[in-house]
Amino acid sequence: MATKKKRRSAKKAPLAEYKRKRDFSKTAEPSGGGTKARTATRRRRALRFVVQKHAASHLHYDFRLELDGVMKSWAVPKGPSYDPSVRRLAMEVEDHPIEYNTFEGTIPKGEYGGGTVMLWDRGTYAAEDGGGEESLRDGYERGDLKFVLHGKRLLGAWVLVRTRRERGRAQWLLIKHRDEYATTKLDVTKVVETSVTTGRTMDEIATGRSRVWHSSRKKTATKKRAAARRARAS
Ligand code: MN
Repeated sequence: MATKKKRRSAKKAPLAEYKRKRDFSKTAEPSGGGTKARTATRRRRALRFVVQKHAASHLHYDFRLELDGVMKSWAVPKGPSYDPSVRRLAMEVEDHPIEYNTFEGTIPKGEYGGGTVMLWDRGTYAAEDGGGEESLRDGYERGDLKFVLHGKRLLGAWVLVRTRRERGRAQWLLIKHRDEYATTKLDVTKVVETSVTTGRTMDEIATGRSRVWHSSRKKTATKKRAAARRARAS
């Protein structure tokens, strides 16, 4: 019988698994109610990506790519590598809400994913072939997802290749493509140990220190950059 596998129940309730795993009266993670409002403008702007360093029962990096109104998500135990000869295991996990992109803090012990979450990198991304969301969707379905990252810590062309599926959970490999950013000399997860938004270390996030000074410094830097842009433009 030629039945097409219908494993895309996610289409009906996009974040069902995400919500089922969490008790939002206990965790400060976003409940994922706000994706609909954003859908309308989705096509008009660049797609976002985020990488969160997550010290749960095991340290890992959560690699998330925006697609079809959710963040497709992979847990990468060793994190990304700029060395094209290095293949990093990436276990696909449940889709996350787009609001998760701003989440940094702690998840209470005993709750799902309990531990510390750092915003390690974020930015925008695009299909490597310039084919937009359609190309990304196709790559995701085929298990050969090629994309370019425009982050602060991660840049250039990368690929996620699906190697196998186990009980609905897919295993992928995250690999750097050879381009001008590829290098064997930078161990990026060792070098970059602070939050991309707050500058905090994992310990500072865990103890709830806020580093208020940093946000004002960032604003000043943003203002300076804007002023420089205006100066160049005029
Ligand atoms: Mn995680």
